[in-house]
Amino acid sequence: MDCDVCGGVMWRWLALPSQWEQEIWSCSWCHAATHVGGEWFEIARPPYLPMETRWERAVADGLDTDVSHAFGAFDKTLCGIHLSGMSSFDYLWVPDRENACGACRAAAVIIDERWPQAVRGEDARVSIAR
Ligand SMILES: [Zn+2]
Ligand SMILES: [Zn+2]
Repeated sequence: MDCDVCGGVMWRWLALPSQWEQEIWSCSWCHAATHVGGEWFEIARPPYLPMETRWERAVADGLDTDVSHAFGAFDKTLCGIHLSGMSSFDYLWVPDRENACGACRAAAVIIDERWPQAVRGEDARVSIAR
């Protein structure tokens, strides 16, 4: 499956099927998410989110808590720190906060730029309902 936003390669999250989706895929380039299956949608594609609201804070044993890192994927922060058992907090990662990791911020800016303006609208990505 290719990414509908940028045409990039998608990888699948190791997540258990739920009421909302059977599979979750993310684009390796622009990080757009696509949810497959579930009670309401065959394919659900959440709209673009600005970088201030799209990332969650990473938590892991051994991760310095004085610095706020964004959770990327597969035990990794956006800036590339790899610690097993890493997960996302239920907290947004706020790039403007003083303790926000600069390298995470730089990565978030790059990922944001990978979204063409044309696909940033509320209805720009098409979901398929059941
Ligand atoms: Zn993409
Ligand atoms: Zn970081």
